[in-house]
Amino acid sequence: MSDCIFCKIINKDIPSEVVYEDRELIAFKDISRLAPVHLLVIPKKHIKDLNGVAAEDEGLIGHLFGVVQKLATDYGVAESGYRVITNIGSDGGQVVPHLHFHLLGGQKLGSKLG
Ligand code: 5GP
Ligand code: ZN
Repeated sequence: MSDCIFCKIINKDIPSEVVYEDRELIAFKDISRLAPVHLLVIPKKHIKDLNGVAAEDEGLIGHLFGVVQKLATDYGVAESGYRVITNIGSDGGQVVPHLHFHLLGGQKLGSKLG
């Protein structure tokens, strides 16, 4: 989508620190880091949020979580623990309307539910 900031990152129209990329996914460092490890893992397909995930995306989402696991290992937080968050819509606090999963770790994370 032409006016989507994450699609611009996918297309390299906006620079980012890419940490993983394949045909279906890209992962990059969040510009506003909330923990020592703060990555965003996103599908290249423009899907607005989790509500927009269809049955045909099952493989894509499974693959995405495999990449989350790999990145958690690569960044040394798989054993110490980490958090994966996806915000959905207004009450969910979603700012960028392109499905993305935050991978946060590298410190003891506080409780930020609600
Ligand atoms: P949301 O609140 O939508 O779940 O999270 C959006 C995230 O995208 C925020 O953590 C924000 O810091 C990050 N973000 C927004 N714009 C950019 C950008 O241009 N580059 C990068 N690397 N991250 C961004
Ligand atoms: Zn997009």
